[in-house]
Amino acid sequence: MLPDDPETRLATVRDAIARSARLADRKADAVTLIAISKTRSAGEIEPLLAAGQRVFGENRVQEAAAKWPALREAWPDTRLHLVGQLQSNKAEEAVASFDVIHSVDRSSLVAALARAMERQGRRPDCFLQVNIGDEEQKGGCAIDDLPALLAQARAAHLPIAGLMAVPPADTEPAPYFALLATLARDHGLTGLSMGMSGDYETAVTLGATHVRVGTALFGERG
Ligand SMILES: *Cc1c(COP(=O)(O)O)cnc(C)c1O
Repeated sequence: MLPDDPETRLATVRDAIARSARLADRKADAVTLIAISKTRSAGEIEPLLAAGQRVFGENRVQEAAAKWPALREAWPDTRLHLVGQLQSNKAEEAVASFDVIHSVDRSSLVAALARAMERQGRRPDCFLQVNIGDEEQKGGCAIDDLPALLAQARAAHLPIAGLMAVPPADTEPAPYFALLATLARDHGLTGLSMGMSGDYETAVTLGATHVRVGTALFGERG
């Protein structure tokens, strides 16, 4: 059962992150908690802002553009992350609206983001998303394609923060988190965006630098 007030839910998640970090001999402040606010109204988001949470994530460019300008005006130090699949024709708007983009997963998108960043003179940090469980319909580049995509992204001067993945549902996620951590290390990347409501503690013990938590902060999505 989730505690019913947002402030207690936030404190509970932060405590769990700190505990997992300690277990892995890591510092709790090495982990950024991204509150995934997709489908949530401004009225549901405001209590978390009031409780001190400043990093949020959305999965749709359009929804974020509708919801966040007013919220960011009230809380200007908010940082907004894009965690959903991104179409190349939305790259321009994504670069304008987000501080970090977690779903860079193919060559055409790297090119579109590079052009948008050049035009706007704004360079959101980027995570390359890896299809870590090699699933048919899942976003993310194939593990075998990662070296080439990373080389292209570096050549295009995208600021690459690290790797992101969503492990297959209904399986033990730890081996996938460990694999993502190994891939990042092998490619000289330090950022690891992994772990959601059901598995962020495991992800933190395996090196996550960014956890993406929705349900445990907001309750079940309707
Ligand atoms: C919705 C979503 C999350 C958060 O999921 P919860 O299970 O609600 O914590 C994390 N990452 C991505 C990519 C998502 O789309």
